[in-house]
Amino acid sequence: MTGSGKENFFASVGDTVETIDHEKVHGLVQTGAADAEGHPVQEIASLCMNCHEDGVTRLLLTSIPYFREIVLMSFECPHCGFKNSEIQSASEIQEKGSKYLLKIENKQDFNRQLVKSESATCKFTELDIEIPPKRGQLTTVEGLLSEMVEDLSSDQPARKNLQPEIYEKIEDVIGKIKATIACDTTNGGVLPLTLIVDDPAGNSWIEYVPGEATHKWSHSEYTRTADQDVFLGLISEEQAAEARQRELAIKAAQEKIAEKSKNPSSSGFISDQTDIENFENEVQTFHATCSSCYAPCETHMKVVNIPHFKDVIIMSTTCDKCGYKSNEVRTGGAIPPKGRKVTLKVDDPEDLARDILKSETCGLVSPELNLDLTPGTLGGRFTTIEGLLRQVYDELYGRVFTQTSDSLESETKQRWESFFAKLQDAIDGKIKFTIIMEDPLAASYIQNIYAPDDDPNMTIEDFERTHEQNEDLGLLDMVTENYQHDQSPSTS
Ligand SMILES: [Zn+2]
Ligand SMILES: [Zn+2]
Repeated sequence: MTGSGKENFFASVGDTVETIDHEKVHGLVQTGAADAEGHPVQEIASLCMNCHEDGVTRLLLTSIPYFREIVLMSFECPHCGFKNSEIQSASEIQEKGSKYLLKIENKQDFNRQLVKSESATCKFTELDIEIPPKRGQLTTVEGLLSEMVEDLSSDQPARKNLQPEIYEKIEDVIGKIKATIACDTTNGGVLPLTLIVDDPAGNSWIEYVPGEATHKWSHSEYTRTADQDVFLGLISEEQAAEARQRELAIKAAQEKIAEKSKNPSSSGFISDQTDIENFENEVQTFHATCSSCYAPCETHMKVVNIPHFKDVIIMSTTCDKCGYKSNEVRTGGAIPPKGRKVTLKVDDPEDLARDILKSETCGLVSPELNLDLTPGTLGGRFTTIEGLLRQVYDELYGRVFTQTSDSLESETKQRWESFFAKLQDAIDGKIKFTIIMEDPLAASYIQNIYAPDDDPNMTIEDFERTHEQNEDLGLLDMVTENYQHDQSPSTS
């Protein structure tokens, strides 16, 4: 990215401005001014929403460290003095929603910057204040609260006579917010204060200060619900209804799995077993929406029993329109207290036929093959070792040699070629290698062909999750905030 960054950067200024408003682009002038990093400031005459005279909108594309580029638009009217500033994120809706948490403990924390996109909800937990999605803003914690005070105050004179009771209540809230900003806890100020910015579009952000205590700031990503997809305009209400139906079916299957694990078949009634067997063999088909191109497609759901492991639900989707394929693996039950690391020495071509379940949260490493798949790289898969290596080959090969092959330096190209040659040897059973799977949710598995005896080539170790892993999985704010998270390791 860094090599060609400059060209991309200037291209994106143009693209972004073009997407803002075509009428505004007409008459756009370079001011010659720039921000500290040299980003040009452009301006354009535009109508004042307050007095309907001509004012000026300035546009600045700026990049926020550790986040991304945004466009700042600030309007100023010389006639009436009206000012307004907004941000427009220079990017589309992200694959996942995001949630940021900040513990505000002192005066300095109120200066923390934040980007609040037009789809974000901001919540100050202890003040019981929620700011619903509205215009996008680059602001600070204090800015957000001050604006709230301004908004609330503006209607107070009218309220004082018409609704005196509500007036009093709002006066209390205003006083509390002001005292909090002043860190004046003796006069109703609340500290520490928790701020949560939740953006289903994944385009919001709270500034992070490197090296600070880990409880102060956290970031997690989540899979959007169907309702959130509707809210963002990605799918229709009808498609959402289908998705809800699918989730209900998954939940029912998860409950059956949990029931079955509570009543092992040895002690169960015969009729129940028959019921469970039927349920295991059943394939259910649902209407779905392709998560890549949003075209209608079909999803098949099946419960698969993995011997000596557990029952899992496999949702397989193939999109006829764009060719997108996914195998989503869902497991039921509570989050296990520990993560699990499985190491297998593959020293016989027959090992390639072993089943492997790699959940989305699972990282996979093979030192001999120079292969390092971070969690999420390849989604969740239930296949064989050979099948998995083949998928890695196909997906990586496609990415490396179609999209960037022209710009690859010959040395890099050679490195990739030898990497793929080795991977092919592994697939063909010509070389020995090790597979190490580390899953913080212990939801991954490699078939033990000696079961129920131990597999001499396999080691299984349980490990304590690190703070970072808990953070990545969104388990931290689940504990502290009791937030609703999808507890099942969902993969796509
Ligand atoms: Zn004006
Ligand atoms: Zn598609």
